[in-house]
Amino acid sequence: MRIVLLGPPGSGKGTQARRLVDRFGLSLIATGDIFRWNVREGTELGHRAKAYLDAGELVPDDVTIAIVMAAIDKVPDGFILDGFPRTIPQAESLESELAARGRPISSVLAFILDEEEAVKRIAGRRTCANCQAPYNVFFNPPVTEGICDVCGGPLVQRTDESEETVRRRLEVYREQTAPLLKFYSERGFLREIDAVGTEEEVTQRAVAALADLVGKDQSESRI
Ligand code: AMP
Repeated sequence: MRIVLLGPPGSGKGTQARRLVDRFGLSLIATGDIFRWNVREGTELGHRAKAYLDAGELVPDDVTIAIVMAAIDKVPDGFILDGFPRTIPQAESLESELAARGRPISSVLAFILDEEEAVKRIAGRRTCANCQAPYNVFFNPPVTEGICDVCGGPLVQRTDESEETVRRRLEVYREQTAPLLKFYSERGFLREIDAVGTEEEVTQRAVAALADLVGKDQSESRI
């Protein structure tokens, strides 16, 4: 299976990507993780990408496409793309590059979540700077504001998770990425998944949608 996951920030797409990868034994290619790793390590790519990540803007298409294709060429068949493509030019490049390799995308899952819920899920996130315990000020607040229940360390917010940046990321998703739902639905291999529910419930929906898509297309080359 070669799968693309779409969904706004906060839809739980990254979590579902990891669950599906474990379940089906696929490779995971997550562009956000690749960029964040490069920023942390201070690579040349990290220096180029940092300002875009901090502002909630997209890294330019040419850079992103080159990174993803290099990653795809390193993994065996069967992968999940989490966070790519995010623009129509990225989707078109992906389509032609994969066609040239005889490895087309088989399924696209789009996780659907209300924008205000997405803002609460992400802008509410805090992590203990000391022991990394995760919190959410709306859904899972610490007993004392700003202080970790486990070790008393200070709770911090990721730079790209401020409310302002999250709203910008959602706007970018609406304007540049949401058109991909039409792009893939016209090709017949998109399923929308309701992203509200427990992690397991959402995974069950995703697995059912994948079974449906795979069953629908009997041609082995797509699967
Ligand atoms: P994510 O963790 O997938 O939300 O990605 C975090 C950030 O990485 C995004 O806000 C962008 O700045 C950058 N990024 C990730 N994927 C892409 C992509 N396909 N195209 C451009 N920028 C991306």
